[in-house]
Amino acid sequence: MLFEKGNTIGERLAAIREEISRIASSAAGRDSNGPELIAITKNVEVGRIFEAYRAGQRHFGENRVQELLEKQNQLPRDIQWHFVGRLQTNKVKAILGKVSLIHSVDSLRLAEEIEKRAEPLKEKVSVLIQVRTTDEETKQGVLPEELPGFLKTVSNFTRLKAAGLMTIGPLTTEEDAIRKSFRALKLLLEKCRAGGFEGLRYLSMGMTEDYRIAVEEGAHFLRIGRAIFGERKTV
Ligand SMILES: *Cc1c(COP(=O)(O)O)cnc(C)c1O
Repeated sequence: MLFEKGNTIGERLAAIREEISRIASSAAGRDSNGPELIAITKNVEVGRIFEAYRAGQRHFGENRVQELLEKQNQLPRDIQWHFVGRLQTNKVKAILGKVSLIHSVDSLRLAEEIEKRAEPLKEKVSVLIQVRTTDEETKQGVLPEELPGFLKTVSNFTRLKAAGLMTIGPLTTEEDAIRKSFRALKLLLEKCRAGGFEGLRYLSMGMTEDYRIAVEEGAHFLRIGRAIFGERKTV
C-alpha cells in the first residue's frame, strides 16, 4: 500500500504532499497553513536525499548526531535540519547551531545541558518537549503530569526556547488509540498555553503509518521517512 504512490522519490513526495493538503484543508478549525513535512533520512544515502531535495523538499530530519553532521556536509546549505532522535547530553555541543529545531527534549538534564552549551551562540535554541502520550513504558518522553513543572523550570532559561510538543504515537494499527494519543498532545498544548506558556505553539506528530490521523488532529510538523524513501535496510 505504501509504495504504490509512485516509483520515484519525487513522485512519492508529490503524492504525500497532495494528500496532506487535502486532509488539512478539509479538517475543521485548523489554520490555513498546512503542516510542514519533514523528510526523515535515517539510513538513507545522500544521493537519495538529494533526489528529494531536487523535488523541492527543504526540511529534513535525522535521529543520530553523527549521521546528521555527515549528511549536512554533503548537501546544499539551504536545507533546514531537524533533530528527532534521542539526544545524549555529550552530543549536545556537536549539534547546537546545526539544526533549526530539536524535537526530542525528553529530560530536564538534557534541557539544562542545551541551555549551558548554547551560551556561546548568538541565537536562541528552539526545542520541542517530547511527551509520552501512551502507556507504553518503553517510550521516551516527559509524562503529561510532569509537563507544567518542566515548563516552569525551562521558562527561566535564557537560551533554550520551548516552542512546542512532540510525541510518537503508539505502535499499533488501531486508529482510535493513535488518535487518542495525538488528541492528548494537542489538549496538553492548549492547557499549557492557557496556563501561561504561550511560547508553546507547535505540535510534532505523525510518521509513515499515522500521518493522516496527525494531520486531522492538527499537527504542525510531520516526520515521515519510509513513505518517501521506502523501507529502511536493517543493518
Ligand atoms: C524514524 C523516525 C520517524 C520516521 O519514521 P517512518 O516510520 O519511517 O516514517 C519519525 N520520528 C522519529 C522520532 C523517528 O525516529
